[in-house]
Amino acid sequence: MAEHESLEYGKADFVLLDNVSMEEFMANLKLRFEKGRIYSYIGEVVVSVNPYRAMNIYGRDTIEQYKGRELYERPPHLFAIADAAYKAMKRRSKDTCIVISGESGAGKTEASKYIMQYIAAITNPNQRAEVERVKNMLLKSNCVLEAFGNAKTNRNDNSSRFGKYMDINFDFKGDPIGGHINNYLLEKSRVIFQQEGERSFHSFYQLLRGAPDSLLRSLHIQKDPKGYNYIKVGALIYCHCFFSQGNLTFGVDGDVTLIENSKLVSVIKDLLSTKEENVQKALLYRTVATGRDIIEKQHTEQEASYGRDALAKAMYERLFCWIVGRINDIIEVKNYNANVHGKNTVIGVLDIYGFEIFQNNSFEQFCINYCNEKLQQLFIQLVLKQEQEEYQREGIPWKHIDYFNNQIIVDLVEQQHKGIFSVLDEACMNVGKVTDEVFLQGLNGKLAKHAHYTSRKLSPTDKSLEFDRDFRIKHYAGDVVYSVVGFIDKNKDTLFQDFKRLLYNSSNPVLKGMWPEGKLSITEVTKRPLTAATLFKNSMISLVENLACKEPYYVRCIKPNDVKSPLLFEQERCRHQVEYLGLLENVRVRRAGFAYRQTYPRFLQRYKMISEFTWPNHDLASDKAAVKSLLQVCGFDHDVAYGKTKVFIRTPRTLFCLEEQRAEM
Ligand code: ATP
Ligand code: MG
Repeated sequence: MAEHESLEYGKADFVLLDNVSMEEFMANLKLRFEKGRIYSYIGEVVVSVNPYRAMNIYGRDTIEQYKGRELYERPPHLFAIADAAYKAMKRRSKDTCIVISGESGAGKTEASKYIMQYIAAITNPNQRAEVERVKNMLLKSNCVLEAFGNAKTNRNDNSSRFGKYMDINFDFKGDPIGGHINNYLLEKSRVIFQQEGERSFHSFYQLLRGAPDSLLRSLHIQKDPKGYNYIKVGALIYCHCFFSQGNLTFGVDGDVTLIENSKLVSVIKDLLSTKEENVQKALLYRTVATGRDIIEKQHTEQEASYGRDALAKAMYERLFCWIVGRINDIIEVKNYNANVHGKNTVIGVLDIYGFEIFQNNSFEQFCINYCNEKLQQLFIQLVLKQEQEEYQREGIPWKHIDYFNNQIIVDLVEQQHKGIFSVLDEACMNVGKVTDEVFLQGLNGKLAKHAHYTSRKLSPTDKSLEFDRDFRIKHYAGDVVYSVVGFIDKNKDTLFQDFKRLLYNSSNPVLKGMWPEGKLSITEVTKRPLTAATLFKNSMISLVENLACKEPYYVRCIKPNDVKSPLLFEQERCRHQVEYLGLLENVRVRRAGFAYRQTYPRFLQRYKMISEFTWPNHDLASDKAAVKSLLQVCGFDHDVAYGKTKVFIRTPRTLFCLEEQRAEM
């Protein structure tokens, strides 16, 4: 018996459970985790439990074991799913995608890296130099992006603070010839503020630790990281080297706003390659057009601080996008001649920030959790809904399986006019008072009756809603209390035009290139930029559209405990994740369902040589009848169902046997 079929390690595929109940599911998951079997299947879906320890299962020898094998021939592994996606792409010219989901710290980013490593390892057998170059770039880009886009949070020491979707392009030989990265909403507020126990992006600490003294000196960065304001709050090591800017403070003298530590202005002008007076002016004044006049309006102390922070956040965000752009320039498919043979297929890998609940949840958590709702919806659509609909359409006897459909929460967030994003945008466009409270009133007015929304005002006795500005969403993965404080500012995401102009006029070409809209004078800036919420919503909708047109493979990651322990399987925590990920429903649909399906003509086209009744042509009444007779002759009749237009095969093994017989002909 193959190792993975031995019961000592539990059932490798949850579909094989004796009874599909939560108890059995959990017992099997726990047993496998304790035996060091961190991967299991639900059909073709990989369930992964974060081991929180180094596992000796990703080496060259393991890769060799999975290369070119069918899913069920080896113990469950990420490599098997990567191979399946690769085979689908290569043999059937399908664009495929691997969607990795799970909450923060569940192991998504690690999984995405192992998948990339596997694909890199099994391709380019002929060692073509150009392909090797592309592969190296794809693998190494991770490291740079993690430095600038990941940070320690209270959930995960290496938490992704941006979403990442990477396409890998393959040529007709199945070798990678390029790629493209899409990045989604970086949590830029982290540059200026971190919650207790958290840190800013890794890049800051890496620069301090790794850069030679001379570089630090030229950047005017003191080696001792203490004393940088932007990371004072809660961070273990204090540092902020983002152009010393975070240390600028403002004061007032009479009715004049002043920069208190004006020596820093000269440092900043050096770093931005611009003039001192320009920096000073941009920090203290704002150009406004009133009718035909253009005036310089002095900032209040508060506005000046706001402007400083907005600038720091915007610069970091642009820098991040610039880095992604640079990587894309290098990895994108250039040599189209490599594709003269026609096809260029892709495998997409999605690794995005997981669902998260913190002590304080703000606009960023709201966006991140909405993103996870969208991905859950896609999973439901593809794995649960479409599957069941197809059986019904084909007239195959089928008992409907109930599942929680989170579309209602997706709508709550993104629906036109009524959704939370719309209410937020509306509040931001108010001519009169634009405050977070106005936004909250709008929510209470529009959503008072919504089953997944409540607030302190609507539920005054609810203990979890501690503050007046709290509202609560019942997400598919749990209840989250958000504070409206900061929603308006973060959504408007205003950066005064004066700063854009300042940076556009920098003599540093890279900086200048990041700020093309700084070219516009104040009278030319008329259009209101899209809000952060609208931009994010649009990017999520197009992400889901992109994924939906590919053949999806799923990795569902589970976090076994909240203390990063390799030994602890917290029953309740895990059960909750199994529940909201819909894994039990997944097993039920899968068990009742069929692994493989094909239209009758195409099925015949591939297998008709197996039987004399169908080779070279059949004289039966229909293709359906021909397929029936073929499968009866081969003895597989018990494992199939005949739909209106398609034949359905229950187990992959049957298909495997058919393939073998075909090969023997
Ligand atoms: P986030 O949503 O916050 O980005 P994530 O799901 O991407 O979270 P990871 O960063 O992949 O989480 O994993 C968190 C940590 O768990 C890793 O830094 C690593 O220490 C550990 N870990 C995850 N997967 C594995 C694995 N397969 N083997 C060993 N350790 C792992
Ligand atoms: Mg991650």
